Amino acid sequence: MALKLNKIPKEVKGDTKPTKLKVGSNKSDDSGSEKPKKPTHSMLKKGKAAKEALVAEQQAAQVRDEQRENQVFRFYIKPEAERVISFLDGGLDVDGDLDSVCYYEHTINNPAQKYPKYVCINDPANGVECPVCASGNTPYFATVFTVLTHEKWISKKEKKEYEGSIQLFVAKTGVADKLRKKAKKHEHGLVGATFEVSRTNADAFNVGDDFDFVQTNTLEELAEMFPDCEVKPLDYDEVIKVHSPEELLALGFGTATAAVGGEAGVDEDAVV
Ligand SMILES: [Zn+2]
Repeated sequence: MALKLNKIPKEVKGDTKPTKLKVGSNKSDDSGSEKPKKPTHSMLKKGKAAKEALVAEQQAAQVRDEQRENQVFRFYIKPEAERVISFLDGGLDVDGDLDSVCYYEHTINNPAQKYPKYVCINDPANGVECPVCASGNTPYFATVFTVLTHEKWISKKEKKEYEGSIQLFVAKTGVADKLRKKAKKHEHGLVGATFEVSRTNADAFNVGDDFDFVQTNTLEELAEMFPDCEVKPLDYDEVIKVHSPEELLALGFGTATAAVGGEAGVDEDAVV
């Protein structure tokens, strides 16, 4: 809503300060006959609004830069495909339960931007409201692991073939439950466990829904088998960015109408 001068006589226009300011609705008292109507350039920001817009853009740019820098790929399987992976973490805790890192996550339904993901920062107890929640997006519970994928792949940049890659495996509840059961069958849980993973159909979890245990190795053995890879669990604090409310607001979240995020084509399947 715009602040509107309420029928200022012509003689007090100019340098004289308006004597009366009133918040008015656009269609109320003003006939518009006193001066020719100009288009309202509400898209042009001036003064304080311009500064705020600049700060917001700087924050958004920083987030986009971080997204480029932290290019860890998320594990993904095409429908009806199969891949072989080894887990590098997911051991058992003292109670024999799966030891894992969990958080609530938002996926933005934006194919053009490769479905950007954001950690949900909703924390009412500490007075933090998540702007992504406020935009109407519902978060899901995510359990993360580090996996070593076994395929060979060719780096487009270096035009070089590599064997294996370290990826972030994000399990929604259904997959995490399956893995929890598998983990309990092995002394070291999922650590070093290799599975043939398949995704039975397009509606199945995109990390696969069928996990066929192959064998367990130590991480040292896996490191020998895959010399191209740094065989160790990812530093989740490093690869999973938790944005501040201000950063998320700057990205356009916080209202029901603006659910944007990231930048088109940041990188295929890159996380965070
Ligand atoms: Zn949220």
